[in-house]
Amino acid sequence: MKSRASLFLTVLLLALSLTACGSTAQPNPPAQTGDDASQTETPDTAPEPAEEPEEPQQEPYVISSPTVDRGTVDGVTYVPWDGVVEHLFFHPIVAYPELAFDGDSQADGIDDWMVTVDEYDKILQSVYDRGYVLVDINDVWSESTDTNGQPVMIRNTLYIPEGKKPLIFSYDDVNYYDYMLKDGFTYKLILGEDGLIWSYGLDPQGNEVISQDLDAVTILDKFVREHPDFSPFGAKGSLSLTGYQGILGYRTNTDTKVWNDELEANRLKECEAVKPIIAELKRTGWTFGSHTWGHINLASSSLDRVKADTKRWMDEVGSLVGPTTILYYPHGARPDGDDVQSTGPIFKYLQEQGFRVFASVGISSYSKIKTDICAVICDRLHPDGTTLRGSDKVIGWYSQFYDARDIIDLDVRPNRGVKWTPKSAS
Ligand SMILES: [Zn+2]
Repeated sequence: MKSRASLFLTVLLLALSLTACGSTAQPNPPAQTGDDASQTETPDTAPEPAEEPEEPQQEPYVISSPTVDRGTVDGVTYVPWDGVVEHLFFHPIVAYPELAFDGDSQADGIDDWMVTVDEYDKILQSVYDRGYVLVDINDVWSESTDTNGQPVMIRNTLYIPEGKKPLIFSYDDVNYYDYMLKDGFTYKLILGEDGLIWSYGLDPQGNEVISQDLDAVTILDKFVREHPDFSPFGAKGSLSLTGYQGILGYRTNTDTKVWNDELEANRLKECEAVKPIIAELKRTGWTFGSHTWGHINLASSSLDRVKADTKRWMDEVGSLVGPTTILYYPHGARPDGDDVQSTGPIFKYLQEQGFRVFASVGISSYSKIKTDICAVICDRLHPDGTTLRGSDKVIGWYSQFYDARDIIDLDVRPNRGVKWTPKSAS
């Protein structure tokens, strides 16, 4: 039950936070795109006798572990899964293709490494239709001890609804970098008066838009609300964060070049502002991993640089999102240049800092439990322009998840060709 007082307070805070972000304040409430699902879920807002303002009462959200054999529940039988646990990752998705693909210096990079909102929507629907269900990367492996008492990672048995297949989602660079803001991406995640996560941003005409249909996080939240069987354990995705321009659209970072009391005061304000977003994301199945503070290349960085970067990530990001055992390599670059055949000093250092799952990028959901150190290395697949267009190496990338010809939106992307044969011509 949400009191009218707390509703008003939430709306006021939202309005204040939007103004505080330096955006053009408007006398009218920001435009909302259609979101019938959330409106029907709005809790009872009947007036109540005056009382202490309370936090907005959220819809209950249940997170459970797939490592528990629960047998049959509500007609669903959970069975052990011994196959590959597939892992897809996304960069921020393009909300406004006309801004992203406007021919500026970023356009080809965005085309290479990102998908549009429409493409992302179609990918979610396709993996759902093909029987994938979400699991959290943190549930796939655990730390245990071997027969000699040495710590070792083990692959957990996952109990999945019969006929379904487990799938991990991760999201890189969920930071809302400055360069992206004018290039067709959302600006930040915010908490709506309904207690749900929304995105904030500007449309190509400069109007403020608060939506759940333009950002990878809110779109998945909404998809799971509409298809709860896509997430039988409540898992969503793992958000891979750098720190150099803050996190989730909040500028929580320091800067070693210029720093003063005013900048620090603003930083602390941003830290306070992002805390309820983090709390709500965690409550609704999202988890966090490190993408290093500075998006540094771990194959070519010195150990000293990695140490300084890791400390800064822990200070500025880990202090907000909490501890994590997951490290997502920037550029997919492996520490010391190789983590498959050998374990170098940078890998050892990162493992000592608590990381256990080290994720690169590849063409299959490869994973390997290392035997000389307590750690797992794994690869993730990347639905994006490069793979949707196909390549000389692989024509029909990721055909277990979708038919790229059904996904790619060639009408909005730059004209850079495809390797596959169009359906109409096949
Ligand atoms: Zn990255």
